[in-house]
Amino acid sequence: QSLAAPWIAGLTPYVPGKPISELERELGISDSIKLASNENPLGPGVRARAAIETALAELGRYPDGGGFALRRALAEHHGLSPAAVTIGNGSNDVLDLIARVFLQPGAESVFSEYAFAVYSIATQSVGAKARVARARDYGHDLEAMARLVTDRTRVVWIANPNNPTGTWLAAAPLKSFIGALPKTCLVVVDEAYTEYVSEPDFPDATHWIETFPNLIVTRTFSKAYGLAALRVGYALSDPRIAELLNRVRQPFNVNALAQAAAIAAINDPEHIRASVELNRAGMKQLTTAFERLGLAYIPSVGNFVTVDCGRPATPINEALLKRGVIVRPLGNYGMPNHLRISIGLESENARFIAAFEDVLAS
Ligand code: PMP
Repeated sequence: QSLAAPWIAGLTPYVPGKPISELERELGISDSIKLASNENPLGPGVRARAAIETALAELGRYPDGGGFALRRALAEHHGLSPAAVTIGNGSNDVLDLIARVFLQPGAESVFSEYAFAVYSIATQSVGAKARVARARDYGHDLEAMARLVTDRTRVVWIANPNNPTGTWLAAAPLKSFIGALPKTCLVVVDEAYTEYVSEPDFPDATHWIETFPNLIVTRTFSKAYGLAALRVGYALSDPRIAELLNRVRQPFNVNALAQAAAIAAINDPEHIRASVELNRAGMKQLTTAFERLGLAYIPSVGNFVTVDCGRPATPINEALLKRGVIVRPLGNYGMPNHLRISIGLESENARFIAAFEDVLAS
């Protein structure tokens, strides 16, 4: 008999990728590259780095528990009030706050097949039930999702663009989907990868916060901003929703280095431009290689691309690991033939391509 609540006993845990140091130890290799967690290969920009240096002088002090300066900077950046902002230890923390505030046993959440794994964990961790809609062409099928919404649905989770597929939803269908939801149901639009997208009809859902009182938009500093190690993300919503989220938020959930770096990063659009440009070139480099190899891939607007190996990806992944190339197999996501590759530096992409070709040929 498990001591855990029954919904915890049945929860499938997130399997974190191993860090380079662990894999190198296990495999007895060195000099490996990691293209597995959709990070920015450039890391933080110069402004964020300088802010971190300055913040090091105050390590003996607690961080700003209310995140006053960061919330003010974010509010200004988005043209909203600081009362609309909830800060998190990465956006995962905010997703967890949402589940804790709005879900409970007997309640349901809806998301898509091939959705980000944390939606399922956050839902199950509070004893609510996950209802999963079939995807269409690996992307969200909003009609199928709408059919799963009942009077027990409290949260709908949508990543735009989606991880691990890189698919995206245009403004018009997403907006009408949100508008048609019952007001008792929140919708979370997770925009972790938004900075990378340049499609003209790709929406910025933060512009709809004042239209939809049941909308929560989440963002992160882990991707284009290059601050994944520091863990900082946030939600934007109607202030009444933010007030509820802040009731359960731990007061010091975002550390001082993270807050200082995030404020500096918002004010460094040049670094975002350089990161997005590098990503665009790297995406081309990888997709050109897949085309040459005759492999299908899911067209992606994110900083990663998912390729269909045409056969089970696990042995291919293992062979890549032996060559010091770490990517993400998607068996856990129900995509046993696919590998997700994060876009790296040009040299890293080239090394992945060479190793992949070599493995496929052997
Ligand atoms: N949402 C999506 C869609 C993601 O892919 C990720 C990162 N893998 C996150 C949220 C969480 O990112 P973080 O907690 O680093 O902000």
